Amino acid sequence: MAEQCDILVSGGGVAGLTAAACFGAAGFKVICVDPTPPVTSRDAEGSDLRTTAFLQPAQELLSQYDLWEGLADHAAPLQIMRIVDAGGALPQARIVKDFNASDISDRPFGWNLPNWLLRREFLARIEGLANVDFRPGTGTKSLFTRTGEARVSLSDGSEVEARLVVACDGRNSPMREAAGIPVKTTRYGQKALAFAVTHPVPHENVSTEIHRSGGPFTLVPLPDYEGQPSSAIVWMERGARADELLRMAPERFEAEMTRRSCGLFGDLKLASRRTIWPIISQSAARLDGERLALMAEAAHVVPPIGAQGLNMSLVDLRCLLDLAAARPEGLGDAEMLSAYHKARHNEILLRIKGIDLLNRTSMLAPRPLRDLRALGLNALYSLAPVRRTLMQMGLGVK
Ligand SMILES: Cc1cc2nc3c(=O)[nH]c(=O)nc-3n(C[C@H](O)[C@H](O)[C@H](O)COP(=O)(O)OP(=O)(O)OC[C@H]3O[C@@H](n4cnc5c(N)ncnc54)[C@H](O)[C@@H]3O)c2cc1C
Repeated sequence: MAEQCDILVSGGGVAGLTAAACFGAAGFKVICVDPTPPVTSRDAEGSDLRTTAFLQPAQELLSQYDLWEGLADHAAPLQIMRIVDAGGALPQARIVKDFNASDISDRPFGWNLPNWLLRREFLARIEGLANVDFRPGTGTKSLFTRTGEARVSLSDGSEVEARLVVACDGRNSPMREAAGIPVKTTRYGQKALAFAVTHPVPHENVSTEIHRSGGPFTLVPLPDYEGQPSSAIVWMERGARADELLRMAPERFEAEMTRRSCGLFGDLKLASRRTIWPIISQSAARLDGERLALMAEAAHVVPPIGAQGLNMSLVDLRCLLDLAAARPEGLGDAEMLSAYHKARHNEILLRIKGIDLLNRTSMLAPRPLRDLRALGLNALYSLAPVRRTLMQMGLGVK
């Protein structure tokens, strides 16, 4: 006989664990499955060395569901977003513009945390919730739905009946495919290297995004590492160049990245291994199927610019939580799920378009186009109301 629960979360990545913990804290009986057990220490094989800058609305959600407590001491606040346009054969900062959170808020834009640590803390929270059952090593296999429930078979041969299936199973989401929901994918021929560094010049809680060509080079503050100022770097480049950088001997790589950073933080030293991620944009044609909600990368993938990816996912989650709280008896029914689709889909498509444009602008190689980009940055920045609106849009509050 199939086991029963309110919500089956397919996927225990950062988004899936957050969803399981929040729905559990809201009182629902949750089962969360993932074939790949989460890696919860920094230096272990397979650890996720990306970081997530949680913007204000995401931090509020995590606080509300008691997920922030375990994170607060490890978070680096982001007070200023610095955009640098770099030029010249030996890259130099031509234009530097600071977007300061104090222009729009009395709090920082966000707080940066390593993804491996998020998994550790979210798992700890889930362990304290008797109504959440996390099953690492087990995946979802097939989906069969009726008006009243979804029946999902799992890779261990068992079956689960749920009122709602939340697909957080990544960009190739098996649950999305099982429901026959198509996606639109844009490929840029780009990859991102993600790793941590130490540097002699303190970051002073400034997140710095340096544009030249190939894509942005972004340093996001981390707490000190072994007594040295430290940052997480996301370095986007054309695929072949990114592969070359991944394989480069450490000293040469350090020289290359110091050059690419315009030397703004002094000599950069690797403080972790390098990881590499293919860059795409992707959107699902719908966010809902019968008894199924798509969220996070199962629903949308964006290039890592402006800390949007997981933050958008937590807006999805907030929307689902609010709809479930407003009408708990309607959990997973067509009314709830079409309201979810309506509330989120257009906003997601707009954000994907905006980030796509920023990425293409950052990839530009010809000098005249890069000059135009620099002029554009100057113009946008010099108009205070436009500047403030851009910051609010970045936070997702406008
Ligand atoms: C370099 C880089 C930097 C980024 N920086 C930021 C940032 O600063 N801020 C931000 O908001 N976002 C950022 N993002 C985006 C963010 O990292 C992602 O949105 C997020 O990690 C994706 O989470 P996810 O849980 O949706 O997907 P995933 O992490 O891919 O998780 C999907 C999970 O589903 C599981 N799965 C697969 N098949 C099954 C199955 N059959 N059954 C059950 N489970 C299954 C997988 O094992 C996996 O654990 C960044 C992305 C990149 C590439």
